[in-house]
Amino acid sequence: EAKAKGRNTYHFYSQELNAAANERLFIENELRHAIKEQQFEVYYQPQIDSSTQHVVGYEALLRWFHPMEGLISPTKFIPIAEATGLIVELGEWVLEQSCQFAVRLAEQGRDNNVSINLSARQFKDANLVPMLSSIIKQTDVSAKRLHLELTESMLMGNVEAAITQLHELKALGISISIDDFGTGYSSLSYLKRFPVDILKIDRSFVKDIPEDPNDMEITAAIIAMAQKLNLDVVAEGVESVEQIKFLQNNNCYIVQGFYYSKPIPERELPALYEKLSSQHQALITK
Ligand code: C2E
Ligand code: MG
Ligand code: MG
Ligand code: MG
Repeated sequence: EAKAKGRNTYHFYSQELNAAANERLFIENELRHAIKEQQFEVYYQPQIDSSTQHVVGYEALLRWFHPMEGLISPTKFIPIAEATGLIVELGEWVLEQSCQFAVRLAEQGRDNNVSINLSARQFKDANLVPMLSSIIKQTDVSAKRLHLELTESMLMGNVEAAITQLHELKALGISISIDDFGTGYSSLSYLKRFPVDILKIDRSFVKDIPEDPNDMEITAAIIAMAQKLNLDVVAEGVESVEQIKFLQNNNCYIVQGFYYSKPIPERELPALYEKLSSQHQALITK
């Protein structure tokens, strides 16, 4: 009887403990065929010059519409795709889609950049540069339109290898952006060693502007630092006009966030253009 009870107790705990593991396993299994079953779509979130209301670029953000589960967040499946290595194939697909999107924008006479998130595994992959190079050739995209978003932590560890990889990427003609900037470890002197072009201020600093004076100090400092290093700066997660005004007063004009638009599928771009051109609220001046 004791034995049976013990087994039940074990069973009970293991069920709880396994809920997370099961979900992980489920996602991992489903991910394996999700690409060929066309369950993915790339959404695009505009980056706007707040002084002109013009779109300057888009960030490509992956969306997974599972037939049973519905929308599964990238914060849930990207880490699993990363851990299993499936991110390499998935990331290649996102790059292809994004380059084709950039070509269509150019064909419409839109002078826009397209930013693509890269995971650590992709960045370390020895095949990254040849793969990107071949996608650029195949799609005939202008490489100067492409930005790759990396995080600070991906540049840590093997610094020399990271610098070499960045130089090879830049040799293709693309730009490098540091995503979620301020959440990792970067000193000014450290950052200077990396051939990067753009800093994206993390949403966590922007979120509580104008209520949190510390976040305002940090945001202003990041913008000043970017200027000293001659980097462009993009503010993420901008949701209010107060935030836009604060950023403008501190010399940051390129913003991305729900204030202007959530990430949207390409078919919704006409509605976005319509909304931007009819937005009369004068958004200030340089
Ligand atoms: P991220 O690259 O920092 O992307 C910005 C995230 O913030 C996106 O979440 C976006 O929808 C969200 N966001 C933008 N503006 C606002 C705002 O004003 N308010 C709020 N609350 N959120 C905002 P999403 O699309 O869920 O993506 C989450 C993360 O998943 C991304 O963070 C990125 O790290 C990763 N990810 C998404 N797509 C890809 C991909 O194709 N490849 C890789 N490697 N990672 C991806
Ligand atoms: Mg990003
Ligand atoms: Mg980000
Ligand atoms: Mg983020």
